[in-house]
Amino acid sequence: MATDPVCGMRIPKATAAAISVYKGETYYFCAALCKQLFDREPEKYLQELEPQKEQ
Ligand SMILES: [Zn+2]
Repeated sequence: MATDPVCGMRIPKATAAAISVYKGETYYFCAALCKQLFDREPEKYLQELEPQKEQ
């Protein structure tokens, strides 16, 4: 399983609608739109993703 950094949805990597590689890390998305938003402002979504790891 992977977490879509844009919407926070948990998705199986095999069924990801889109994939993006940023700074050597692979990110999986539930929809092409989420990938587009991530590619536009990757740092914004990666910063928002950080607190979720502690929950
Ligand atoms: Zn999504």
